[in-house]
Amino acid sequence: MRLDVVTIFPEYLEPLNVSLVGKARARGRLDVRVHDLRAWTHDRHNTVDDTPYGGGPGMVMKPEPWGEALDSIMASGEAEGLVKPTLIVPTPSGRPFTQALAVELAERPWLVFAPARYEGIDRRVIEEYGERLEVHEVSIGDYVLAGGEAAVLVITEAVARLLPGVLGNAESHRDDSFAPGTMADLLEGPVYTKPPEWRGRSIPEVLISGHHGRVARWRRDEAFRRTSENRPDLIERCDPATLDKHDRAL
Ligand code: SAM
Repeated sequence: MRLDVVTIFPEYLEPLNVSLVGKARARGRLDVRVHDLRAWTHDRHNTVDDTPYGGGPGMVMKPEPWGEALDSIMASGEAEGLVKPTLIVPTPSGRPFTQALAVELAERPWLVFAPARYEGIDRRVIEEYGERLEVHEVSIGDYVLAGGEAAVLVITEAVARLLPGVLGNAESHRDDSFAPGTMADLLEGPVYTKPPEWRGRSIPEVLISGHHGRVARWRRDEAFRRTSENRPDLIERCDPATLDKHDRAL
């Protein structure tokens, strides 16, 4: 998968060199290219923002540098045989980023991220590329960050760990919170490792019973309990067909 990020703070994306994403790059599973938006400005001050039409506080990112940057990145990908990227625009006013969207994005060969600063990017940029590409305006939560770079890190990590050959154990995202299948709509329950006793606290007996059926049932019950406590909205929204008799009794 190729990933391009256009930003006015390229150094903010350095974490893409470490841990899982860094390893995915080293293994050739991810080709990450970070671009400085100011490279597509033509004035002495490398201006990327201007005052908002209609007045009000803050500045808005100008459309010209974004247009030139995105055209140039698209041309470079096409020269390498890629067809069209999927454009991701992080914004608090976008659709919530979910595991389902991460799964969808993990199937795309090429993602381009347009993280903004200030009050965001001139709307015409999103309209223009919305007519040419698949565009997702995505929010990573109901709060406002100073810029979209942290959102790019979040989305990239969620997507990269789904790519084949990236996680050491391909099974490890099968039981994650929100994973399709047995965990659909549920959060993962608690996890334990050695030693079996720590500061007088033991692990649940069932986990050393060697009985796979009982362990699976316990995990499902704990997931259900934790979801009910922390995210009752998920239980209310979930498809009743995904709940079994035991869940309903809890
Ligand atoms: N005026 C904008 C609003 O209220 O919707 C907020 C702009 S915010 C200060 C600057 C940039 O940070 C946004 O354009 C976006 O790229 C990024 N950002 C902030 N919060 C975000 C969130 N929850 N999810 C994704 N991106 C976010």
